[in-house]
Amino acid sequence: MKILILGGSAEARELAERLAPRFDVTTSLAGRVRNPAVPAGELRIGGFGGEAGLRKWLLDNNIDAVVDATHPFAATITENAAAACARLGIPHLILRRPPWPAGDATVVCSAAEAKDTVVAQGFSRVFLTSGRSSIGAFLFSDAWFLIRVVEPVPADELPERHHLLLSRGPYSLEEETDLMRQYEIEVLVTKNSGGTMTSAKLEAAAVLGIPVVMIDRPALPEKVRTVSTVDEAQRWVTERDTAEA
Ligand code: NAP
Repeated sequence: MKILILGGSAEARELAERLAPRFDVTTSLAGRVRNPAVPAGELRIGGFGGEAGLRKWLLDNNIDAVVDATHPFAATITENAAAACARLGIPHLILRRPPWPAGDATVVCSAAEAKDTVVAQGFSRVFLTSGRSSIGAFLFSDAWFLIRVVEPVPADELPERHHLLLSRGPYSLEEETDLMRQYEIEVLVTKNSGGTMTSAKLEAAAVLGIPVVMIDRPALPEKVRTVSTVDEAQRWVTERDTAEA
């Protein structure tokens, strides 16, 4: 079986690692990150050119099944994959790690709403961990920001008062607590990414009594089977292979 894994998450790498010895596996990455961790099996990098481009790629490469293991906030590729696979009749599974429990966090639907919440509650020192695409919403805010992202961001895309921290998880509770103390953080803004790589910030915020504004996940496409663990995704692929044999 030829399998396409839409990647960009730790789960996608783990799934490729498990499937590559037995199947013809290609992982696709968007190409946002320099020096990405290289998954097992084949790797292709770059957009497909929308849903039509993805459909063509799936046909040209004789793909038998698609596992969408992209990040929970990568909504466009997930919609495109659902539409392309439905039109071509290619078996398709979404692998999404479970969300974090919101706890006492203020849950919002967008970065713009997160910014409105921060402004309305009068916070002046903000730890912004919600990714590059959300920074624009905070551009004209008077607050001071500690901005943590993986890749550099051009100066004109950053709010005036900030410190930019380039780093990639995982982070420990101790590191996150020290960081929030050092920068006298008053509020943490995060997406509900889920997983253990970056969850220590939530524990640190709880320890320090720092409020959290959590951006909720985009909705998943309807009618697509969705699982939350690599084990389940591996089983789904293996079962398909057995059924076809
Ligand atoms: P997105 O908004 O859903 O996708 C935008 C476009 O990027 C898609 O239309 C597609 O271009 C291309 N693309 C996205 N994922 C791709 C993949 N795995 N392989 C090939 N092309 C892909 O996605 P995003 O939020 O920009 O995220 C980009 C990638 O980074 C995703 O693969 C995701 O897993 C990873 N990531 C995202 C986040 C996040 O917070 N959003 C965090 C960590 C990692 P075409 O239309 O040209 O095909």
